[in-house]
This record gives sequence, C-alpha cells and structure tokens, in this order.
Amino acid sequence: MLKKPSHFMVIAVFTTLFVYWLKTKIPQCAAISNKTRFVRVNDDIQDASPTPEKRTILMKVTAYCLCRKCCGKWALIPREKRKTAAGDNPFIFDGVAAAPKLLPYRTKLRIPGVGVKEVDDTGGAMRKSAKGGVYHVDIRMESHKQALEWGVKWLNVELQTQQGETR
Ligand SMILES: [Zn+2]
Repeated sequence: MLKKPSHFMVIAVFTTLFVYWLKTKIPQCAAISNKTRFVRVNDDIQDASPTPEKRTILMKVTAYCLCRKCCGKWALIPREKRKTAAGDNPFIFDGVAAAPKLLPYRTKLRIPGVGVKEVDDTGGAMRKSAKGGVYHVDIRMESHKQALEWGVKWLNVELQTQQGETR
C-alpha cells in the first residue's frame, strides 16, 4: 500500500525529530542562562562551580589614584564634592572601578594580595576592556606612586556577591 516515501514525508519526519530534540535542549538553556551571565569569557573561568557566590575569574587588575593623571577632569572637582560613579566618598580607599555591565556597582571582589573591595566606580579603560570581553578592575589607591608600583597584574579574582545584589 505504502509507496516509496516522498520527499515531503522525509522532511516531515526530520522536522518532527528536530523539534523533539530542540525541546529537550531549550529547558537546559533556560536553566543555565542565569548562572552563565557572569562568566561570558569562558577561557577565563578558573572555577566554574555552580554556586554563584564563589566564582573566580581571571581579571586584569590595574590601579588608580585621585590625581589629574588618573582622573582627568574629575580631579578638578573640590575634594569635599568628589564622588565615585556610584556616589561614594572616593577618599575612602575601599573601592575599585570596573565596567558595570560586567561587574555592577556594589559587587564585592576578593583580590589576591589586596583583600575584599567593592565596585563603586568606573572608567573608560574598564569599559573598553569589557568590550573586548576582558574583566578589568582598577583599584583606588591613596597615591599615584602606589598606583604606579602596582602596575598591571592578571589575577584570579573571586566574586563575593551576585550580580545586582545589594549590600
Ligand atoms: Zn594618579
């Protein structure tokens, strides 16, 4: 009764199988999308553990101070009026600058040899790095000399808080 299968039938069978396969894949993608938001630079993941609180990412770590060389026009603002991009007192040296798209303000980072710092500022260099997929943080230091001495380091930085989480 059944003749040779027509092309149409072959296509229909394959489409059905493909849709079925796709359905088995989609829920997985949805489930992992939340976790992967932070770690888009796959090569840089040192610890892809499922707990979002303890993730380590290889980051470019530089340093800046509040001088004209480091801050440009912002350095001209009177000391008592100066604020970080997140609205903090920049003369409290507990923060770092980053690209908020990768590391939102208030994200806490444990930087090896430095300790825990909070993202409270940003800068063009960090946003430029982010465009190239590079996590880049700039540690705020008290003097230009200190910042120069720090130089550029690539360190495994541990994320202490989840994206968007507040203090
Ligand atoms: Zn400086």
